[in-house]
Amino acid sequence: MKILLHICCAPCAIYPLKILRSNGCDIYGLFYNPNIHPYLEYQKRLETLKTYAGQENFSLQCPDDYPIENFLRGILGEKGDRCAYCYYTRLKYAAGFAKRGGLKVFTTTLLYSKYQKHELIKTIGQKLAAEYELSFFYHDFREGWEIGRDIFRKDGGMYRQPYCGCIFSEKERFYKKNG
Ligand code: SF4
Repeated sequence: MKILLHICCAPCAIYPLKILRSNGCDIYGLFYNPNIHPYLEYQKRLETLKTYAGQENFSLQCPDDYPIENFLRGILGEKGDRCAYCYYTRLKYAAGFAKRGGLKVFTTTLLYSKYQKHELIKTIGQKLAAEYELSFFYHDFREGWEIGRDIFRKDGGMYRQPYCGCIFSEKERFYKKNG
């Protein structure tokens, strides 16, 4: 089965790749993450993933567009959960990409992270699959959190980011309200 794998970063791809391959999937990676700020951080994550895709021998698409302006406008206009907008934007792009490329199934490495809103990602992925007449491959990749981390540690040279991606998550990493 051919599958489009939306990838947020290389470390989060390690375990999903293992599971998808053990399910006989032929993987087409896609890096589409305009949430990542600043641009040099975006490039660093992208270059790390390119190296990893070469090592693991899977194809990787990296569209040139980095619409951070649209992303920020959208997220600032979001009245509810900013992450819902973020997931929706990235997964909608992935679903459209899969559809245009003739792939019938897609999924995302966002389902690996213990720090993401797992149920929300699942719901958004399933809704978009219905909208685009695709299947969303759901798997709780969090089960392999330690396995992924162990492989990452053995790799030694792979870059792992210290915050989720957007400017707000970067702020929250350091900023503590007084009192
Ligand atoms: S915290 Fe992460 S998932 Fe939430 S909006 Fe920021 S980059 Fe997106």
